[in-house]
Amino acid sequence: MSDTVSIYIHVPFCIKKCVYCDFYSDTQLSFIPEYLCSLEKEIGLRSKKQTDQRVDTIYFGGGTPSVLTIHQVETLLKTVQKNFSISPDAEITFEVNPGTIDEHYLAALKDIGITRLSLGIQSFNKEKLAFLQRIHSVRQGRDAVEYARKAGFDNISLDLMYGLPFETKELWHMDLTTALQMAPSHLSCYMLTIEPGTPLDEHQQNKKFKPICPDVLWDLFEKTSRTLETSGYEHYEISNFSRGKKNRSAHNSGYWNMKPYMGFGPAAHSYDNDIRSWNIRDVAGYICKLEAEHLPVEETEALTLDQKMLEMIMLRLRTLEGIDLEDFKRRFGITFESRFEQVIDQVCSASMGKIEKGTIEEPRFFLTLEGKTHLNSIVEAFSQRLVE
Ligand code: SF4
Repeated sequence: MSDTVSIYIHVPFCIKKCVYCDFYSDTQLSFIPEYLCSLEKEIGLRSKKQTDQRVDTIYFGGGTPSVLTIHQVETLLKTVQKNFSISPDAEITFEVNPGTIDEHYLAALKDIGITRLSLGIQSFNKEKLAFLQRIHSVRQGRDAVEYARKAGFDNISLDLMYGLPFETKELWHMDLTTALQMAPSHLSCYMLTIEPGTPLDEHQQNKKFKPICPDVLWDLFEKTSRTLETSGYEHYEISNFSRGKKNRSAHNSGYWNMKPYMGFGPAAHSYDNDIRSWNIRDVAGYICKLEAEHLPVEETEALTLDQKMLEMIMLRLRTLEGIDLEDFKRRFGITFESRFEQVIDQVCSASMGKIEKGTIEEPRFFLTLEGKTHLNSIVEAFSQRLVE
């Protein structure tokens, strides 16, 4: 059992829904005060069941955490600090939408103890922002980075999005170049995915646009990796880049390493000791449950050995290091090579993966850049092997 745990706090409110988004969030901001009371109650109730695991990362995600006032954020953070044992050097990340903040807000976040900002820039191009229906302008995106610097944050991550229907190499290159000029310590570059049930999905079905051709998309992915690596960023996870190991997202790395985490708020997931659970996906229902002093859990499942194996493969193949073969053997009592010999051979002979048995590092199996462009089908091949 890990002696540290991560905490995720969901702030499920947004000023307006972005057209592509399928995260759980609500635009009724009037729920916020009542919601925060319930959130504090959930934190209090669950901390009583907690052992003495130390919290080494806290992540305020959304939704849009930056719709909260500083006083509300500070009260929430104090509640977490009161109920859990927090490492003195804990990474405390806060997601910011550039359309909701000013210089004072970011300075105040720094003062109350936030250590890392994740700025939802998405693009520095007006047309791209309009297509995504973001609430902020190009100017506000640029300002957010400047304010973050002025506030004294060194650890700043920018979220960017590519693969819009009209995206060209030039357009994406401009976004990347603009971001690089700002020298953030971390970049998350996400491909636009059209999630079922979103307005974007509906627009696509009504033929309002034609999605980008997959070959162009993967070409952009490879170019992103090459451009950022040339600029000194490590491509440490399929969508994530950092200036060296120390600037990786410790919180998200915890997910990819299957470390325990506790998620608070509607739709938040938790994982510990092979048990996964998630909360109900509805603010009003969440508040009701907590008013009655009940935990707002929707479901709990115990992972089988095969599920754990697949989870590990799925998560670790996203990363630069891939699967630690010694760790696999320790966890599952069998070697990765003997369990998946055929699939490994196929992936390696197609130059999409490699087994590396270094003298300094643990032996590992990882995907090459080309392999990462086929991640889903490779994971599917491993999954098939498990059911055979
Ligand atoms: S701001 Fe973020 S969470 Fe809110 S709708 Fe847009 S993408 Fe979704």
